[in-house]
Amino acid sequence: MSRLLQGAQFALAAHRINQLPADEGAEVAFAGRSNAGKSSALNALTNHKGLARTSKTPGRTQQMVAFSLPAPAAGGDGAAATRLIDLPGYGYAKVPLDMREHWKQEIDAYLHRRRSLRGLVLIVDIRHPLKEFDRLMLQFCADTRLPCHVLLTKADKLSRGAATQALAALRKQFAAEGLHASAQVFSASAGTGVEEAREAVVNLLRQPRERESL
Ligand code: GDP
Repeated sequence: MSRLLQGAQFALAAHRINQLPADEGAEVAFAGRSNAGKSSALNALTNHKGLARTSKTPGRTQQMVAFSLPAPAAGGDGAAATRLIDLPGYGYAKVPLDMREHWKQEIDAYLHRRRSLRGLVLIVDIRHPLKEFDRLMLQFCADTRLPCHVLLTKADKLSRGAATQALAALRKQFAAEGLHASAQVFSASAGTGVEEAREAVVNLLRQPRERESL
């Protein structure tokens, strides 16, 4: 199953949702606060070091990037196009206000209108769980019944026990707040949880139906 993500290829970078590939087939979007480790996670999942650009300068890449996957990721319907979408990092203070406003609107429009969107992978630094942006994303997924899978990244920065505790605390919080997201521990550096995350992404891509109109 995990091999399906390994043929990922850069398709295009977009500044507006109408520049994205045709809205057909199935795609999974990746979102996260700047510097959470989204690019590193994408590279680990696709086993392609240079696929998404990692950066020491958070907020540098302000684009939506589409990566196309080999057709079998779609499951039953072999002909349908499948993609991963890297949404722009969010919440980096040095990005000018008008740019932040632009992306806020584009991400919102994307999540609301994109019919081929099957699920969201939310990247959260395990040491700083659930900031305002993360909560917005989770609430949006809950409201629109969009499946969401959370990667608690940089788990190598914590002991194994502390990482397990952080995951348990997050799940407890989801239950208390009525959020139905799944979550796991992840580390791109140490390779922790990579296989589990690949399976989660492929399962999202295989969600059978198009989203109900919002
Ligand atoms: P993005 O801005 O969310 O795309 O984050 P990047 O993937 O560019 O990572 C931001 C910084 O965190 C970089 O310095 C990465 O090397 C580092 N980083 C990313 N993933 C991990 C991880 O799993 N473990 C550790 N220790 N550092 C990581």
